[in-house]
This record gives sequence, C-alpha cells and structure tokens, in this order.
Amino acid sequence: MFSESDGPDEATCSARGCKLPAVWGLRWNNPKLHSPERRKVWLACDDHRASLSDFLGARSFLKDVVPYGELG
Ligand SMILES: [Zn+2]
Repeated sequence: MFSESDGPDEATCSARGCKLPAVWGLRWNNPKLHSPERRKVWLACDDHRASLSDFLGARSFLKDVVPYGELG
C-alpha cells in the first residue's frame, strides 16, 4: 500500500513499551517549556492514539493529531 521509500520504517509508537509502528502523529506544545510556534511530536499506534492524546489534552498541550504520513 505504501512505498518503502516514503520514510524511515523504524518509527514506532511513543507509548512506553509499545513496539507497534506509528500510525498517528500527535503534535503538542507545552507553553511553559516551548515557544508558541514550536511543536513536539509523539507517535502513536492505533491502540495508543486515544490514551496519548487524552494525556496531552488533559494538560491543554495537544494541538493536532494527523496521520503519520502527513507529518511535515
Ligand atoms: Zn502503541
């Protein structure tokens, strides 16, 4: 479905202990640590997208969730 040259294939979910391939990119910013335009990125598999985005959303850090292939 995807060509192998689209990007690094070692990208895995950012959840602790998870080795599944990244499917989603969660873009976030902690205004106490980062300038407003800065974006940190966590990668998530389908299983962890909800828990990781809940974690960031509860702290008002979450800015955007995009398919992994659409990360800039
Ligand atoms: Zn995961």
